[in-house]
Amino acid sequence: METIKCNVLVLGAGPGGYVAAIRAGQLGLDTVIVDGQAPGGTCLNVGCIPSKALIHAADEFEKAMHNTADNVLGIKAGKPSLNLSKTIGWKDGIVKRLNSGVTGLLKKNKVKLVVGWGEMTDGKTCMVETADGPVQVVAENVILATGSVPVEIPSLPYGGNVISSTEALSLDSVPEKLVVIGGGYIGLELGTAYAKMGSKVTVVEAMDSILSQYDAELTKPVAASLKKLGIEVLLGTKAKGVSDACDALIVETSEGAEQTIEASKVLVTVGRRAKTEGFGLDGLDLTMNGRVVAINDKCQTSMAGIYAIGDLTGEPMLAHRAMAQGEMVAEIIAGHKRSFDKACIPAVCFTDPEIVTAGMSPDEAKHLGYETKIGVFPFAANGRAMTMEAETGFVRVVARDDNHLVLGIQAVGKGVSELSAAFSLAMEMGACLEDIAGTIHAHPTQSEGFQEAALKALGHALHI
Ligand code: FAD
Repeated sequence: METIKCNVLVLGAGPGGYVAAIRAGQLGLDTVIVDGQAPGGTCLNVGCIPSKALIHAADEFEKAMHNTADNVLGIKAGKPSLNLSKTIGWKDGIVKRLNSGVTGLLKKNKVKLVVGWGEMTDGKTCMVETADGPVQVVAENVILATGSVPVEIPSLPYGGNVISSTEALSLDSVPEKLVVIGGGYIGLELGTAYAKMGSKVTVVEAMDSILSQYDAELTKPVAASLKKLGIEVLLGTKAKGVSDACDALIVETSEGAEQTIEASKVLVTVGRRAKTEGFGLDGLDLTMNGRVVAINDKCQTSMAGIYAIGDLTGEPMLAHRAMAQGEMVAEIIAGHKRSFDKACIPAVCFTDPEIVTAGMSPDEAKHLGYETKIGVFPFAANGRAMTMEAETGFVRVVARDDNHLVLGIQAVGKGVSELSAAFSLAMEMGACLEDIAGTIHAHPTQSEGFQEAALKALGHALHI
């Protein structure tokens, strides 16, 4: 059996793992990364990237449909058609390009990629089942980055017409009737995309609101858009099971009544859970934090020399958090003084309109006892938004009342995901309202809404 000895073993080549490995390689650490699938993890193979590709295609199709009717732009085009297999082929092409991009970056940084499923046999050793037989990797430091898997509803096991986001990203035709269980960001992103591509979409949500991590002001425009797209949202409704023929979902309504909803596909998106099985975690006996691996601010676990990063360590389960942790851990192993001390982890919901948040919402700030100044600037008063037919939504800035330090920034609107960098940078630099208000923002851009929101909080917005 082949044995490889190294400084650093990374188990899992998702955004957390591959970034950790690249940085470790850059720092001259002898590094091995193990993954049973193409590098890139959930994010690149069946998550962030493929979902955004599908959303883009759906947006383009919807635009083309919009242009078959008279519209304010004066465009009139013929009825479009959609070949979903071709769309999926295009998406797969992007995924493949990125897989080989990551492979190339690992190689460039002298990281050895071992393809196969790995199992930790002790705190320093990983047995990997490769196509050419077992390989033993013995490492001084281990970074666990095995990510997460979709949560299954016991009464609705995956299979047949009951699918997870993974299958939803590779369908060969647009389902006539799609029922989405779960009104979180993954369900609404995919549900919106399929509605735009022609599915009759119903969203079943057990709670009494969609996107429950966001406040009502942010989700209102999304709820309105779902309605406009003909998506029915059933709140306070619990999925019970599928019909015998697997062509309908049985639910219990908020009034306790049983209801049957016809479905060509039932997409279950009720969350993701850390992948804690199948790689020998039990044998390591690490301290857990509920169902995720417990870590400190250096991503160290309870066992010396073992680090854990990304979705395996819990919320927020976001690719950019995993990457930031991965980069940091590689530097810590190389002897740098680092700890995870970020001012915020921004989050984007790629619904239509999009939502972006960085830092505290007004309620969170209040809950922590802050007296606040809040500035809201609507895109209805933003010239660029008008020129893009994107007048729905707003930018909101939350700051401390006493010293004007910005505590949080949120926006909802078309394309606001691209404002996330400005928001995070302001938070990370410890910006005050005056810093944002005093920065020249190029005209005409949606980002002027950010400056205006800060001005509004200071009491002298210029354009409202
Ligand atoms: P993963 O990306 O899950 O990678 C873990 C890797 O470990 C996998 O490649 C797996 O094969 C490997 N692995 C596991 N066990 C073993 C083993 N025993 N041996 C070898 N290899 C193993 N996040 C965002 O920030 N923005 C988004 O827009 C976004 N959209 C999403 C859309 C969807 C549909 C989904 C499902 C997720 C989305 N996410 C998004 C979440 C994002 O994908 C995850 O937060 C991110 O991938 C976590 O990175 P990770 O490195 O922790 O784990």
